[in-house]
Amino acid sequence: MRWDAVVVGAGPAGSATALRLARAGAAVLLLDRARFPRHKPCSEYLSPETVRLLGALDGAALAAVLARTPARLYGMRVVAPDGGSAVGRFASDHRWPAPLPYGLALPRADLDMILRHAAERAGAAVREGVVVEDLLYEAGAVAGVVLRDAGHGTRETIRGRVVVGADGLRSVVARRLGERRTGWPRRVAFTAHVAGVADVGEVGEMHVGRRGYVGLGPVGGGVTTIALVVPATGARLPHAGAGASWRERLLPALEAFPLLAGRFARAELVRDVIAVGPLAQWSRRAIADGACLVGDAADFFDPFTGQGIFTALRGAELLAEVLIAALAPPPEQSLPRAPRGGPLPRAALAPYARARRRAFLGKWAVERLIGLGVGWPALTNRVVGRLARRPRLGDLVVGATGNFVPARALFAPHTLLRLLW
Ligand SMILES: Cc1cc2nc3c(=O)[nH]c(=O)nc-3n(C[C@H](O)[C@H](O)[C@H](O)COP(=O)(O)OP(=O)(O)OC[C@H]3O[C@@H](n4cnc5c(N)ncnc54)[C@H](O)[C@@H]3O)c2cc1C
Repeated sequence: MRWDAVVVGAGPAGSATALRLARAGAAVLLLDRARFPRHKPCSEYLSPETVRLLGALDGAALAAVLARTPARLYGMRVVAPDGGSAVGRFASDHRWPAPLPYGLALPRADLDMILRHAAERAGAAVREGVVVEDLLYEAGAVAGVVLRDAGHGTRETIRGRVVVGADGLRSVVARRLGERRTGWPRRVAFTAHVAGVADVGEVGEMHVGRRGYVGLGPVGGGVTTIALVVPATGARLPHAGAGASWRERLLPALEAFPLLAGRFARAELVRDVIAVGPLAQWSRRAIADGACLVGDAADFFDPFTGQGIFTALRGAELLAEVLIAALAPPPEQSLPRAPRGGPLPRAALAPYARARRRAFLGKWAVERLIGLGVGWPALTNRVVGRLARRPRLGDLVVGATGNFVPARALFAPHTLLRLLW
């Protein structure tokens, strides 16, 4: 059998793509090496615009998220290395209203499980516990995947008219296509769920230090999610003696940040620490003959701005629109389309590459500017000091990272000047 689409990875990007394609009538196979629910290293925050996208994707999925009583985050606090702090709120009186005055936060194990089930409900066939190891080529175009059953170790070939690489930061599909690039700053992240953190409130927190930063926020049920992001070179949690637990190693590293000292005195880890990295990986092209990339497999720079799930869902929306048109029975005049049943040629996928550029150029610029900026302590001290004195400017920055204030609002010369002077 040849599937219309073989989607590798059932995270937000893969599940949302599979859901949209299946709903349009395509024969879709969604593959993941994990068995769900599975954890994913993440700060687990959905910006207001991401919540809106989730509702637009599938009302039942959003209802299932709300039924998990996720935490509500009304904005973000940024703390500089010198201890200065500023808060930006989503609800503000600038000219770009937030779709909601808050974002949501819940464990990725729950969110991703909900999305994976939504894809299946829409008609996608789902296989878990299967590792995609390679791509299958026919006449120079990708025509399927080679997978290994994680349980039995047996190998199998699956054919599809298009292979969608939605397999995350370390995407096998992107690497096999030869499109993967890594860059500076090379950072790694240690993430954990912690109960009993003092003074966790209704805003997310980003604490910037001299060597890295910590993202921290509630995810419901009295649990706080923590992500410590540090340079990959020499990235190591403090040694606390042989046999030291993660609690004895991770929590002291957090206490070193000025406004975190003392907040973990009664804290307990309720999920193992998961490390991930190096970050800053992207693919030179998101399309090839018979294949395309979406979500982190296409591009992931740095988690500081918390835009990854937004990009995954929005990328899936853009991709599904192009694939649905390309997979439809070809009318006479549509030249770029594939012969019926064959791999989709790159030309048929080109509108997706163009749509990504249009949709994400501003986001890429904001993400890279902030991601690089937090590597300079003096610059962070200065900008946070300005934001503390000018709360509306803070709202604007948080709105831009929350994906509802356009990037051009941040890059306007008078805004940049007010951020620095
Ligand atoms: C420390 C940190 C904090 C973050 N915080 C936030 C945040 O607060 N908010 C936010 O929006 N974003 C955040 N992000 C980014 C966000 O986690 C990602 O952008 C998002 O998960 C991307 O979704 P995805 O579907 O592309 O990939 P993933 O969610 O990584 O899903 C990929 C899937 O592919 C599967 N897979 C991988 N390889 C194979 C294979 N060979 N065969 C079969 N299956 C495979 C995996 O099991 C996985 O299920 C953070 C990231 C990090 C590292």
